[in-house]
Amino acid sequence: MNLPTSPTATAALLEALHFAATKHRDQRRKDTEVSPYINHPIRVAQLLASEGGVTDLVTLQGAILHDTVEDTETTPEELERHFGAAVRRVVAEVTDDKSLPKGDRKRLQIEHAPHLSPQAQQIKIADKTANVQDVTASPPTDWSLERRREYLDWTEQVVAGCRGCNPSLEAFYDGLLAQGRKLL
Ligand code: NDP
Ligand code: ZN
Repeated sequence: MNLPTSPTATAALLEALHFAATKHRDQRRKDTEVSPYINHPIRVAQLLASEGGVTDLVTLQGAILHDTVEDTETTPEELERHFGAAVRRVVAEVTDDKSLPKGDRKRLQIEHAPHLSPQAQQIKIADKTANVQDVTASPPTDWSLERRREYLDWTEQVVAGCRGCNPSLEAFYDGLLAQGRKLL
């Protein structure tokens, strides 16, 4: 069984889920169905557990919380208060600097990937896996085929810098990327 089994760990994971769901409650993904935003962090954590065999609580909490600082009013201090310094750190590692232009942010994700902690690298791979799946099957409404293909290429460059942290998660990403390329 991959899920944390101690009552404390289970409660801590569910607290992260409750916190993220509250923070993202008015947000939607960019697909035609305008899916609830929280579906995405749930998927990222689920991929880590079920495809990556991850049981580390900080990594799973980090996955659930990975977009709270970037996309909501959540502060790093708030994360530390609720979930501790390790969760704050790992979320900070996967948070883009939103003051920078989009192109710079995308380049920096590629450059920073090899220097992330193994916990953050695994979250990155799971995040890119979820987005590859979405860009293939339920992409942002106004994206051209070319833009979707370019997005897949970019995720491959980010994931390249994270390789070695979780081979089974990486193999799952590779399979979805290949499938996406075949379909697009
Ligand atoms: P965005 O960063 O604006 O959108 C992609 C991000 O949106 C994902 O990384 C994901 O981030 C989130 N997201 C929400 N819903 C979905 C969904 N259904 N499917 C996939 N992702 C979703 O776009 P880009 O990554 O393309 O970045 C902008 C860059 O694109 C700029 O550098 C610009 O130059 C370039 N561009 C290219 C164009 C082209 O036609 N080739 C046209 C316009 C811009 P998260 O997981 O963090 O929520
Ligand atoms: Zn994400």
